[in-house]
Amino acid sequence: MGESYIAQNAARIRTSIQAAAERGHRHPNDVRIVAVTKTAGPDVLPLLLEEGIQDAGENRWQVAREKFEHPKSTEFTWHFIGTLQTNKVKYIAPRFDWVHSVDSVELAEALAKAAVKLNRNINLLLQVNVAEEPQKHGFAAAACLDAVRRIRELPGVTLRGLMTMAPIVQRAEDTRWVFRELRLLRDRIRGDLDLVDFDQLSMGMSDDFPVAIEEGATMIRIGRSLVNPPEAAEEV
Ligand SMILES: *Cc1c(COP(=O)(O)O)cnc(C)c1O
Repeated sequence: MGESYIAQNAARIRTSIQAAAERGHRHPNDVRIVAVTKTAGPDVLPLLLEEGIQDAGENRWQVAREKFEHPKSTEFTWHFIGTLQTNKVKYIAPRFDWVHSVDSVELAEALAKAAVKLNRNINLLLQVNVAEEPQKHGFAAAACLDAVRRIRELPGVTLRGLMTMAPIVQRAEDTRWVFRELRLLRDRIRGDLDLVDFDQLSMGMSDDFPVAIEEGATMIRIGRSLVNPPEAAEEV
């Protein structure tokens, strides 16, 4: 005993990352764990740091703001991963280093404007609705190239790649095509526009991250299976 449940969860997840990276002929260090802390309290932050996890993600400002009151919050790189309304950009821009959920050029413009005013840089990912699910946000794959052309001209932001949320399925294997499509789309855009640092793929969550890693994920967004006690977490 004495080991936190976060330590146990992190060890289990790291073993899965290692195995998936091997299957995908990749280096496990090329996969960044973004701990999605939305279902946990601020006390989770020091426990994550103990496991060497320094990236944290939140999908709602109201939930994120209580984390920022914790003194350890400044040791994290913060990722905003939820639907973002333009009028909320003023809260997000000062605190978050990455926004994974850019779903319109207008949102990117608002983030750029805020970042310039704050004299900081924000890394952006375009959210892509690969499976074209009507209830999900994000660009259609066919609209991405044009959006990238416009967003990459903006000051204050750096467009670093793509993000997707796979459909909810019975078998993680059934999400593979979505992750593969996202990788091919990134490669195509990077090649067409000659963007060297358009290299990130944010894909994979608790239930499907091994498949996402096999298909090239550089960031996996892990919530329940990392930050919740084992009884509440589902098997990974
Ligand atoms: C909550 C959330 C996650 C994490 O999901 P888990 O299934 O708990 O790992 C990842 N990405 C986004 C956008 C989320 O909202």
